[in-house]
Amino acid sequence: MVVVMRPDASQRDIDKLIAQFQLQGLQVGITNGVGCTILGLVGDTTGVDMDKITINNSVERVMRVSEPYKRANRKFHPEDTTVKVGGAAIGGGSFAVIAGPCSVESEAQIIDVAQKVQNSGAALLRGGAFKPRTSPYSFQGMGAAGLDLLLEAKAATGMPIVTELMSEKYCQLFEDKVDVIQIGARNMQNFDLLKEVGKLSKPILLKRGLSNSYEEWIMSAEYIMSEGNENVILCERGIRTFETYTRNTLDLSAIPAVKRMSHLPIVVDPSHAAGMYWMVEPLALAAVAAGADGLIIEVHNDPQNAKCDGQQSLTPEHFDRLMKKLETQVPWMGKTLSRG
Ligand code: PEP
Ligand code: MN
Repeated sequence: MVVVMRPDASQRDIDKLIAQFQLQGLQVGITNGVGCTILGLVGDTTGVDMDKITINNSVERVMRVSEPYKRANRKFHPEDTTVKVGGAAIGGGSFAVIAGPCSVESEAQIIDVAQKVQNSGAALLRGGAFKPRTSPYSFQGMGAAGLDLLLEAKAATGMPIVTELMSEKYCQLFEDKVDVIQIGARNMQNFDLLKEVGKLSKPILLKRGLSNSYEEWIMSAEYIMSEGNENVILCERGIRTFETYTRNTLDLSAIPAVKRMSHLPIVVDPSHAAGMYWMVEPLALAAVAAGADGLIIEVHNDPQNAKCDGQQSLTPEHFDRLMKKLETQVPWMGKTLSRG
């Protein structure tokens, strides 16, 4: 971090500020430039509040030269992180596909979809039990009963389950029953929830917020990791832009960018990005080509009658065709398709 002092800053003000930084355990390099003094802070500045420095009358400007995140930062952890769930692996050269319906609707539905996506090569089963819906009048999910149906599908197939947690009050339930806990786009900056899931032992699938920058997203991963849970998978699911044709705009640049910034694995959700089933396959293949470590895809055995997101769900047959393409494309990208 660099602090530029105002030209009229007195030596007393400068010395006072230097003493403050030293008290925070930082070393301070002093450069006397033409007309102003520049302080270079050396050490762990992640806890330094830039606003508190800026408010000082003798300070002109404060600039960060290092990222505000540490645990998620590739600089301090050059190797890729691989998150292992059951027999499946995501990241560090392993690629896994998570598939299933937007929401769990019945025993017959979830077991049928689970068996079909597994036969096609999916490694993990998705399915929302607690659903974040824009309207309070829309189907809100089956709740805890939906979790039990996911467990039945897991017992029938052996597939680990991925499902969304919306409230801290269900942390223990999810810790007991779920294999990967999804934090949805709308909760990416629910910091209390992030801190609580940081105390759990289960991997966290952290979706990118609708309008969040890469740094904000990685800072949310940092919240989880700073509580001790290092198993975070980032998920790009499309962002809000001026385009209205698609539900969201899939930001493929996020894949190489985030990989440079962080060692965490990144998966792509083409279903919520596109919002249309026919666009899911090309976006999925593009995500693989851009270096994604996995995909999360909505698949429904009866999309026309789905209670949620049927328009963007693949049929099991379409999903099977996509998996056949991935079987060629994933190794071509130098990755191993993890089947769990
Ligand atoms: C979902 O995965 O069903 C979901 C609601 O996703 P998102 O949080 O990305 O909208
Ligand atoms: Mn959905």
